[in-house]
Amino acid sequence: MKRLFRVSASDSILATDMRKRFVQLLLLTLFVTLIGSTADAQNSATVLVLVHANLIDGVSPDVLHDATVVVRDGRIESVGGNVSAPTGAQVIDIKGRWLLPGFVDAHVHLRDLAAARHAVQSGATTVRALGSSCFTDVGMRELHRAGLTDIPEVVAAGYQIRPGQLVL
Ligand SMILES: [Zn+2]
Repeated sequence: MKRLFRVSASDSILATDMRKRFVQLLLLTLFVTLIGSTADAQNSATVLVLVHANLIDGVSPDVLHDATVVVRDGRIESVGGNVSAPTGAQVIDIKGRWLLPGFVDAHVHLRDLAAARHAVQSGATTVRALGSSCFTDVGMRELHRAGLTDIPEVVAAGYQIRPGQLVL
């Protein structure tokens, strides 16, 4: 049988490294999925209330001072100046700190978890990844979906394909 491609020793090592990295990412995704599903079951009725916030809602041109934000099961349920905390809620006084909607970074190339965490720390709660090696961005997307909350939601492109070039 005729070989279609020539593979050099360095290509073979690179392919092995990529395969190892992909398997590691896959195992990490599976682990976080299992942990995330356990955490979801335990926190299903969690109500968190943030009080004394300065809030920019992204809709109104005005800042809402001394706002209260009620978060039920990880989703914002109500926001306002006259919102009271439901019975049994965990109340945190954020003492005038600022809350605002997360930013969307529409052009990133995620290399690793550190880069994803840096995006969140910079305010980007959603990123659009325009190509990453070894499906890193797809792995990050799945980690976020599985419950890893210190990385952003990822709109993943997977491999970057351009005319005349395939970046693996
Ligand atoms: Zn780019």
